[in-house]
Amino acid sequence: MPATITFHPVGCGDMTLLQLADSDQTSILVDINIRAGADDPDGEHRDVVSDLRGRLKRDAKKRPYVDAFLMTHPDEDHIRGLQKHFHLGPLADYADDEKPDAEKKIVIREVWSSPLVYRRADKSHVLCDDAKAFNKEAKRRVGVNRTKGFAGVEEGDRILVMGEDEGGKTDDLGPILVKVDESFSTVNTANKAGYFTATLLAPMPKQADAAEEEKLGKNHSSVILNMKIGADARTSDGCRFLVAGDAEVLIWERLWNKHKSNQAVLEYDLLLAPHHCSWHTLSWDSWSELREKAEVSADARSALGVTRAGAVVVASSRAIKNDDKDPPCIRAKREYESIAKDANGSFKCVGEIPSEEEPEPLTFNVTAQGVQQVAKQEAGRKAAAVIGSAATPRPHG
Ligand SMILES: [Zn+2]
Repeated sequence: MPATITFHPVGCGDMTLLQLADSDQTSILVDINIRAGADDPDGEHRDVVSDLRGRLKRDAKKRPYVDAFLMTHPDEDHIRGLQKHFHLGPLADYADDEKPDAEKKIVIREVWSSPLVYRRADKSHVLCDDAKAFNKEAKRRVGVNRTKGFAGVEEGDRILVMGEDEGGKTDDLGPILVKVDESFSTVNTANKAGYFTATLLAPMPKQADAAEEEKLGKNHSSVILNMKIGADARTSDGCRFLVAGDAEVLIWERLWNKHKSNQAVLEYDLLLAPHHCSWHTLSWDSWSELREKAEVSADARSALGVTRAGAVVVASSRAIKNDDKDPPCIRAKREYESIAKDANGSFKCVGEIPSEEEPEPLTFNVTAQGVQQVAKQEAGRKAAAVIGSAATPRPHG
C-alpha cells in the first residue's frame, strides 16, 4: 500500500489522516472538526466520521484506533467532536466492546500535544469543552509517564510533547519531549524511520519579552511540523508535508528569517494552507477593508513558497468565493496558486472537490516524486486510478 494523506471536508477546519507505507499502515490523525450532523449519513454535512472510521484499522479487541493524534492548537475547528468520538482516560475504562463497530469510540494510542500552544490560546480566548478535555487527557498521560519513569508506558497512555513549555515545566520530560528544530521518527513509540520523520518548526519558545510573547499568542500559535513521508520501503523521501494549524503572518516572518539560509526545513511537496486559506497568514493588512490594496508580507510568502517540483497546496475550507470573506480568502488562494504554478504544481480546495454541494474526502498517494491525487475517493484504502500526468521528476539531494 502506498502512503496516503486524506483531507476530510469539514468546512473551515482541519481533519487530516496520514497512513504510512509501513506494514502496520501506521495512522496519524491531525486535528478534527466533526460538526453537528457530520456523523450521520442523513445529516446536513458530509458524514466524515464514517469516512474516517472506514479508513482506520481495528486492534486485537476490535477497537478502531489511530496510532497518533496531533492537535495543532485548541481552537474548536481543530478539536470539535473529541469527546463524542474518541476514548479519553485509561484504556482499562474502555466501555464500548459490546457495542456495534460504528458506535465504538476511537482509541488514541499516542497523543501529540503542545502545552505552550494551549497556554497561549487559553490566555487569548475561552476554550471549548473538547479543548479542555484534550488538555486534561494530555496532562493525565504526562502524569502516567512521570510515574512510570518514561519506561513501559502502555498504548493509550502515551504522549509526545511538542515544544518546551514555559518556566521549565517540561524540563524533566526527556524522552517524550520534542524541542523546536528537532526531528523524530517514532509513532506510538515504534521507530518508523524510512517511512516517517517529522521536524518540529513551532511553537516558538516562550519569549522573555512580554510584548513579544503576546504577539505570538495573538498569531494563532500552532504546532508546525514538516513531515518526510516514505513512498515505500526504498524511498524514504517520497513527500514533504507541511502542516501548520492556523499559524499567522508573524510566525511565518519569523520562520523565514530563522531558516532563509537553510530553507530545506521549509520545503514541501504538499502544504495544508495555514488557517484555512486565510489572508492573515500572508499579510498584516485586512482583506475586507483594503481588498486589492492589501499588501503581501514578502517574508511570510517566502516561508510558504519553498516548493519542490509539482508541489500541491490544499485549502481545508468551504468553497472559496470572490468576496470579502476571510478565511477562506480569494486573494490568499491567488497567492498560493501563483506559488504552486511556479513549481508546476496545483492548488486544491477540499470544500470544492468534486463539487461545492457535495464535497468528498480528498486523498493523495505519496509517490517517489511527491503526491498524486487519487481520482475516485472511496472509504477505506481502495486507491482507484490516479489522475493527472505523472509528477515532474524532482532533483534529489
Ligand atoms: Zn482553524
